[in-house]
Amino acid sequence: MATQEHVVVIGAGVSGLTTAIVLAESGVAVHIIADELPGRTSLAAGAMWGPYLVEPKETVGRWSQRSLAVFQELAANPATGVRLVGGTEASRHEDRPPDWAVSLPGFQPCAIAELPAGFTAGYRATVPLVDMPVYLGYLQHRLCDLGGTFEQRRLSSLDGVRPVSVVVNCSGMGARLLVSDPELHPIRGQHVVVSNPGLTEFFSEDTGASPDLLCIYPHGDTVVLGGTAIDDDSDLRLDEEAASAILRRCVDVVPRLAEARVLAHRIGARPTRSRVRVEVERMADGTWVVHNYGHGGAGVTLSWGCAETVLSLLIDR
Ligand SMILES: Cc1cc2nc3c(=O)[nH]c(=O)nc-3n(C[C@H](O)[C@H](O)[C@H](O)COP(=O)(O)OP(=O)(O)OC[C@H]3O[C@@H](n4cnc5c(N)ncnc54)[C@H](O)[C@@H]3O)c2cc1C
Repeated sequence: MATQEHVVVIGAGVSGLTTAIVLAESGVAVHIIADELPGRTSLAAGAMWGPYLVEPKETVGRWSQRSLAVFQELAANPATGVRLVGGTEASRHEDRPPDWAVSLPGFQPCAIAELPAGFTAGYRATVPLVDMPVYLGYLQHRLCDLGGTFEQRRLSSLDGVRPVSVVVNCSGMGARLLVSDPELHPIRGQHVVVSNPGLTEFFSEDTGASPDLLCIYPHGDTVVLGGTAIDDDSDLRLDEEAASAILRRCVDVVPRLAEARVLAHRIGARPTRSRVRVEVERMADGTWVVHNYGHGGAGVTLSWGCAETVLSLLIDR
């Protein structure tokens, strides 16, 4: 890419910020336009590394592995909000672990006696857990240090950005209107943030296609408890009943959580498609537009891999 090129990135969620950093580190001047700084969906994520509610498998595998390597490096710096945390993923069925889990550090199948009551299979592993408010702040600072600039405004179309030679569209669910993508649909998710009664390990249940999830992610002083996955629902208001059900499910597995104080609720709509959209197109006026959205329940997990693909597409155009 020509280093004198100016790039506008639409979106300041995990996709936009990570992509902007990768582009700025390649030497180009990057300007972010976003109506939410940082993106609300990204703030709502738990967030654990792991491909969930996202396709297609092959590229998702490659992107996830690349991000895994980056998160493992970032975890050396506590200011990033990334930690490598040991814990258990369990199931109430005779499930086999997913292929990607087997290569995680510390992977070890669990004996049934090691699992909470009612669970019949599971494994232990060490994975990156990302404290999203801290991490998004870290990404914003890192981009500022690279000379990146921010502008808070809502765009009704890509025309609001031109004239620039390159636009990168990381608008998450916003892409449904911004680039008229009817395939993109929301899967609503809700988390409860509580004080940490002393947990150092994560726990999550493989709940398959159920809308009721179970995850317990300790982030130092707080624990993020989840969750839900409600198809075609983009209502971002608090659902008190869902929050109570999340607390009940988590306390059933870790009774110590009954003493935790509720600190906050986080709600977001996972931007979901049949395939993540990372592709380049040339508009009639000559502007290059690279799309990077539709990461479903795995936007954090895919972020570094997708951002590097955006850079490659721009170099190869
Ligand atoms: C409850 C929940 C739990 C999750 N847990 C995990 C997890 O554990 N691991 C994981 O990897 N992923 C997880 N995810 C998924 C992950 O959060 C998303 O895939 C990811 O945040 C999407 O990031 P994004 O940057 O594409 O979108 P967003 O964070 O939504 O950012 C979009 C940005 O685009 C801007 N924008 C949109 N439209 C416009 C417009 N017209 N004009 C100007 N700006 C615009 C917005 O203001 C925002 O800044 C979870 C999601 C939820 C909701």
